[in-house]
Amino acid sequence: MKEIVEVAVGLPVFKTFHYRIPEKMKDSLRVGMRVLVPFKGRKVTGFSIDLLDHPPKDVEKKLLEVEDLLDEAPLVAPSMLRFYRWISDYYLYPLGEVIKTGLPPGLHLKSELVLSLTEKGISSLKEGALDALQEKVFKEIGRCGRVPLKKILKYFPGEVSKSQLFSWRRKGLLNIESGVEGKEIKPKFERVVQYQGGEPTRRVSKKQAEILSWLKEKGELSYSELCKRFKSPSESFRSLQDQGLVSFFRREVCRDLSVRSELKPYPKPELTSDQETILGEILTGIRSKNFSPFLIYGVTGSGKTEIYLRAIEDVLAQGREAIILVPEISLTPQLLSRFKDRFEDNLALLHSGLGQGERYDQWRRIWKGEVKIAMGARSAVFAPFKNVGIIIVDEEHDPSYKQEEKLKYHARDVAVVRAKLAEATLLLGSATPSLESFYNAEKGKFRLLNLPERIEGKPLPRVEVVDVRKEEGLLSEKLRAALKKNIEDKKQSLLFLNRRGFSNFILCPDCGFTFKCPNCSVTLTHHLKDRSLQCHYCDYRIPAPGDCPKCQGHRLQGMGIGTERLEQEIKLLYPETKVERMDHDTTSRRRSHLQILKRLESGSIDILVGTQMIVKGHDFPNVTFVGVVSADTSLHFPDFRSSERTFQLLTQVAGRAGRGVALGEVVIQTYNPDHYSVLRAKEHDYVGFYQEEIQFRTALEYPPFSRLINFRLAGTSEKKTKGLAGEMGKIGQYLLKKGYEKGIEILGPSIAPFAKMRGKFRWQMLAKGKSPQLLHQFAKDLASAMEGRMKGAGVTLDIDVDPVFVL
Ligand code: ADP
Ligand code: ZN
Repeated sequence: MKEIVEVAVGLPVFKTFHYRIPEKMKDSLRVGMRVLVPFKGRKVTGFSIDLLDHPPKDVEKKLLEVEDLLDEAPLVAPSMLRFYRWISDYYLYPLGEVIKTGLPPGLHLKSELVLSLTEKGISSLKEGALDALQEKVFKEIGRCGRVPLKKILKYFPGEVSKSQLFSWRRKGLLNIESGVEGKEIKPKFERVVQYQGGEPTRRVSKKQAEILSWLKEKGELSYSELCKRFKSPSESFRSLQDQGLVSFFRREVCRDLSVRSELKPYPKPELTSDQETILGEILTGIRSKNFSPFLIYGVTGSGKTEIYLRAIEDVLAQGREAIILVPEISLTPQLLSRFKDRFEDNLALLHSGLGQGERYDQWRRIWKGEVKIAMGARSAVFAPFKNVGIIIVDEEHDPSYKQEEKLKYHARDVAVVRAKLAEATLLLGSATPSLESFYNAEKGKFRLLNLPERIEGKPLPRVEVVDVRKEEGLLSEKLRAALKKNIEDKKQSLLFLNRRGFSNFILCPDCGFTFKCPNCSVTLTHHLKDRSLQCHYCDYRIPAPGDCPKCQGHRLQGMGIGTERLEQEIKLLYPETKVERMDHDTTSRRRSHLQILKRLESGSIDILVGTQMIVKGHDFPNVTFVGVVSADTSLHFPDFRSSERTFQLLTQVAGRAGRGVALGEVVIQTYNPDHYSVLRAKEHDYVGFYQEEIQFRTALEYPPFSRLINFRLAGTSEKKTKGLAGEMGKIGQYLLKKGYEKGIEILGPSIAPFAKMRGKFRWQMLAKGKSPQLLHQFAKDLASAMEGRMKGAGVTLDIDVDPVFVL
C-alpha cells in the first residue's frame, strides 16, 4: 500500500506537494481524487496526482498528513491527468489550477463528506440485520437522505466515529461522497415512492387503500406526484411504509435544462456525393482508431454539420464518445436543435450560460457515462469521457476559442492535443480556416477535405463594396436601395455593425473634451436607452450629462454610431417594417437571443440589426440581404491577426445571405475598399486571401512561422509596474546573452495596447521564436527570475502563450 500522495493544490503555485496518507485512507485514496490538505495554515482542496511508496529524496522527512478525502471515485481519470499535465506545461500554468479549469465550478470550495444509505444499507435496515448502533445511525441518515458526515458525528457524540462510518462504507452499507460547503453544488435528488407488495398487517383506511392501489398500478413514481394526487398523504403513507407495503428511496435527477429542439425539426437527408466522399475519408480515420486529424474547409451552407452528425454516429457505434465544440453555444440554437433531433438525450451541454447546478449535473452525466456526446463552448474540451473517439471543432477559426483570463488556453489547440493523446479523430471545420490550420493542412499535418459548393448548388451571394469616403450619411445609396428592394420583395435582411451602443463617444466641440473611463484607457460609449455612458471593458457607468463638465458648453455631440443608433435610424427610414436588434444589450436576459432568432425564423422580424452575434452559423432561408454598415472596426485592431479577423467576419456575415431558394445580396460599406481582406471576401476567395496573408506572416515572421509568448505586467501603481517592466526587459536581455540569443527575439517592453484596464496599468513584452521548446524554457527562466522581484509590489505577471491580441 502506498504511503505518500503527491498533491497539486488549486492555488497559483507551480510546485506540487507531498503528504502522508493516513492509515484509514490507504485503501480508498486513488489518483484523481480530491483531498483536503493542510497548506500554510489553511486547509485547501488539492488533487491527488500520484501515489508513492516513499517520499522523494529531495523532500523533507516530516510530511504533513492528508486531512480528508473528498471523493469516492476519481474525478480525474489517468488519461485526463496526462492531458492536464501537458496543458500545465505548455501554458505555464499550475497543474492544480488547470485541473480546476477542467472541472465544473463549485467543486473547489472547502469540501465536506456526505453520507447516504446504499441499497444494501436500506435493505439491511429493513431486515433488522444491523446492530443497535448501526440501526440508530442508519435511521437518522435514512431520515435525512443525504447528511454531512460531520453532522452525524455531532449528532451521536462519542457513540460513532469516522473510522466506523468508513468501515460501514467498506461493507457496502453507506455511500460517502463529497459535498461542497458554501455554494453547495450537489447532485439533486427526488424522493421516489415504490410499491412493495404484500398483505397489510393492520387495518387500512380508505385513503390508504386508494394510495396502495394507485401505487400498485404505477409501480413507482415521485413523491411530488403522489402529493398532487392525494392531499397531504404523508401520514397515511408512513403507516403503509411501516407495514412494508411501500417504500421510499431517493433518486438523482438532472436539473432540467429545458434545451429542447425549439426550432424546426431536422430530418436526416441523403448525403450529396461530395459529402459522401468526405465522410468516407473520415470514417476510415475513425475506424483506424489512430489519431486522424482533418480540416474540413467548406463554404457556408455546404453541409458540414451533416458530416459531423454522421461521423458521430459512427463513433458511437464503435463504443466511443464524442465532443463537439462550438464558439458560443448560446448563439447557435440551430446547431443544438439538429443535435437534439438526431441524438435526443444522449447529449450533455457544457457552457457558461448554464447555472452552476445545471452545469454540474451535465458534467456528472458525462462523468458517470450516462451520455456519450458532449457539446459546448471551449470548456467542453475537458469533458470527462474516458474513451473519446472524435473531437469536432466547428468554426475552428473563431477567436472565442481563446480564453483570455486565468488559464489562457486555446480550445482548438488543446483539442488537437487531446485527440492525439486519445488516438481519436479530429475534425476542424470552417468556411474561413485560421491561417494556422490551413498552413498545417498544407504541410500535411491535417488532412484537408474540401466542400466547395453549397448544398443543391445554391450560389454564394453577390457582394458589392461601397467606398464610404464618397458617401454622405450612415447608409450609402446602394445599401438603402438594396434594403428597400428586399423589403418590397417581402424578404428578410440583416444589418451588421460591430459596435454596440448609440454613439461611440461624446465630444464637446467647444473645448474638445471627451468622456474617458477612469479605470481603462478607452472612451465611454453613449447608450440612449438608459441615458448612460458606459465602459465596455469594466462596466463603469455614469448618467449621460447635458453639458460639458469642463467648459459648461451646451453642444455635446455623439460621435460614431453603434447598433442602438442604427436601429433607430432604420426604424425612422422604414416605419412600416419590423426592426429588431441583437447585441449584448438586448440579449442579457436568459434565452432572449433564442427568442429573437425564433422571431426571425417565424418571419416576425423584417430587419435584424446586430453585432457579430448575427454572424454565427444561423441558417434562415428567407434572409436574402446582408448589409455590412462598417467593415473597418476590426481592421484597425492592434493585432497582427486583424486582416484575418476582418476577412473571416465579412465572409461569415455574407454567408448568412441567400441560404434559401432566392439569390443572396450583400453590400459592404468601408473606408478601405482596396484592402485585400475586403476584396477577397467580396470574391468569396479564401485561398486567395490565405496566399496573400501568409506572405505577410512570412515576411514578419509571425505565426504560423513562429511562436509568440506575451508577458504582461499589471499593477495598480503606475510607477511600480513601469519599473518592473524595465527590470523584465533587462532580465530578458540578460537571458538572451546567456544562450537564448540564437532562437529568440524580444519585442519591448512597452506599454500594452490598452495602457490601463480595469484600474490596472499594463506593460508587456513579447518573445518570439521558432522552437516552442526553447521559447518555453525561456519563459520559465524569465518567470522565475521575476518572481522574487515582484513580491509585495502589487503587480502580477501574466504569461500568454500564443496570444491573440498583441502588437
Ligand atoms: P454548413 O454547416 O456547412 O454551414 P449546413 O450543414 O448547415 O452547412 O447545411 C446547409 C443547409 O443544407 C442546411 O439547411 C441543411 O439542412 C441542408 N443540407 C445539408 N446536407 C444536406 C443534404 N445532403 N441534402 C439536402 N440538404 C442538406
Ligand atoms: Zn473601464
